[in-house]
Amino acid sequence: MEIKEKILMIEDEKGICNFITTVLSSHGYEPLTAYTGEEAMRMISSHCPDLILLDLGLPDMDGSKIISYVRKWSQLPIIVVSARTHETEKVSALDLGADDYITKPFGADELLARIRTAIRHTRTSAYTSSMMPNGRFQAGALVIDYDKYRVYINGSDAGLTQNEFKLVALLGKNAGRVLTYDTIMRELWGPNAGEDNQILRVNMANIRRKIEKNPATPQYIFTEIGVGYRMVSGDELS
Ligand code: CA
Repeated sequence: MEIKEKILMIEDEKGICNFITTVLSSHGYEPLTAYTGEEAMRMISSHCPDLILLDLGLPDMDGSKIISYVRKWSQLPIIVVSARTHETEKVSALDLGADDYITKPFGADELLARIRTAIRHTRTSAYTSSMMPNGRFQAGALVIDYDKYRVYINGSDAGLTQNEFKLVALLGKNAGRVLTYDTIMRELWGPNAGEDNQILRVNMANIRRKIEKNPATPQYIFTEIGVGYRMVSGDELS
């Protein structure tokens, strides 16, 4: 018998719960629902879900408490379900250890794609299916060669600087997921990197000039406004 992946929805809006339940069960997942934070914490330990969909505005607690609670002992993937207007909320959820977020209102396809990416990430621990055994990442015409420290576009060297390479390399290792500006700054320049994202924006503008056909409408590295950057995952382009 096929084992279904259990997805725990922590959400107090019945309408959204019904929508998500229908989508998940018709695509081979086993949906579970918790309407409060208390109930969620009980269900996380008793039902061992494979993924959590988390609404941050719960009736009895701030949903971000659940992220901290889970991250103390588990890398269980967490996707935050958030309203469009709450950019800072998304940023802090990602910094607390959420894997991704999805903005209300969203469609079934978007939800399923996010779930697939998040589950795959935990299975392959940061390295995506686009990461090939020879230490290269590929998405469309973009190739990152981790051994040679080079990025190629359509087969020719994109000529990235060291900082530009580091930034692209980090996003490539986390392809498909959003990295917040703070996370990127910390990863690239250490804990004392500071708060100023200017250096990141300058580097990104240069990278886009070198790798994107049209830097204003990028196809490889996306800006999640007010949150961070996301590298396309290889299978989104193939
Ligand atoms: Ca709510």
